[in-house]
Amino acid sequence: MRAEIIAIGSELTTGARLDTNSQWLSVRLAELGVPVDYHLTVADDLDAIVLSIQNAVARSDIVLVTGGLGPTQDDLTRDAMAAAAGVELYLDESSLAHVQEMFARFQRTMPERNRMQALFPVGSRPIPNPNGTAPGIWMEYPRGDDRTTAVVAALPGVPSEMMPMFRQSVRPALGGSGRVIRQSAVNCFGLGESHVEQLLGDLTARNRDPEVGITAHEATITLRVTAHGATDDECQAKIESARTEIRRKLGHHVFGDEDQELQDVLLKMLTERRATLATAEWATGGLLSHRLSSVADCEGTYLGGLSFPLDDGTLSLRQTGHSSASARPIPEAAIALRAANACREDFEADYAIITRAGRLPADSDSHREDEWVSLIAIAGSGVSEVKQLVPAGNPAILRSRAVKTAMNLLRLKLLGS
Ligand code: AMP
Ligand code: MG
Repeated sequence: MRAEIIAIGSELTTGARLDTNSQWLSVRLAELGVPVDYHLTVADDLDAIVLSIQNAVARSDIVLVTGGLGPTQDDLTRDAMAAAAGVELYLDESSLAHVQEMFARFQRTMPERNRMQALFPVGSRPIPNPNGTAPGIWMEYPRGDDRTTAVVAALPGVPSEMMPMFRQSVRPALGGSGRVIRQSAVNCFGLGESHVEQLLGDLTARNRDPEVGITAHEATITLRVTAHGATDDECQAKIESARTEIRRKLGHHVFGDEDQELQDVLLKMLTERRATLATAEWATGGLLSHRLSSVADCEGTYLGGLSFPLDDGTLSLRQTGHSSASARPIPEAAIALRAANACREDFEADYAIITRAGRLPADSDSHREDEWVSLIAIAGSGVSEVKQLVPAGNPAILRSRAVKTAMNLLRLKLLGS
């Protein structure tokens, strides 16, 4: 059983709004064991919608449509469903009563146009909508001459109406495929996408079960493991063996599962060791502090951070009790380490992390003047390390990459200790 989803609305194709319905419905269908092959977004244009429905029923068993069920002239889903099957619309009396009742409940007179929300293609049936005026439409389309049918279920575009309608009426009617699809994520840091793929070898081969897909977001690599099976247990067993294999191949580059971020993992490790952390940042806009302090129950482990704008290319130690003037002749790495230690002392923390992103000063001999770099340093019991990041990739993610690299560096040190 294959499915596809059609999102209707010119607000979507123009980019004014994001199609979140298709994302949500795809996850629900996967829970039923139904893979989704296509997401299609179509403007409020009758011909385009008719064509997309006809194409969809020709290739998919389940077609979920959202949007275009309202009472205005640009709501064309019901007309398109009728035209796609070559049938007329009929008036469904009980749906008309429902629409009238919704207006009466809010003490408003029903505009004549709303009658069209009780019109349905001949051969279809309404799907009840307890949360709005527009009922959904359920219709089965015969497919060619092989005597099979495709189901088209049209749901309201408004997510708060679409979701309960799917749960209450559409999901039970679809019945499920008898198969289960489960997904799990493994998160890694410190390697590029192609390097990860190379290390994983056969694991990422297409059409494998479980399938392992790679996505990258601001230098974090996420491996999505998708397993198909007859039962939940069967899927979980497949996922577990893939996860074990991933961990064996990528080692300490793997830092977490599912939604876990580096800050979650780092603070958890510190909490387990009853250790505390403080930070100081130059030109990373407080991003490190923001991420660490966003972790639930971080108080007691993350003591706080200082954030400064870039100080003409030299780490200023003034705020941490030192003079920046006296620091000038000392190499950057040494200054960063001093800053890390000063920060640790100021906060009376066990560990400190320093990050700095920005342009290198003109007098630096190892880089061109206009080069953007990140410098990170960590200090703590038995730990003292500075690292300069090679400016690679998109400058827009430079800060995020610097902050993540810094947290990862401390994570690796703690792992080794
Ligand atoms: P409609 O059912 O076409 O009248 O859509 C009503 C409203 O629901 C739109 O104005 C959007 O704000 C929202 N909406 C429609 N389609 C989607 C979608 N695919 N994802 C998220 N919101 C949507
Ligand atoms: Mg619309």
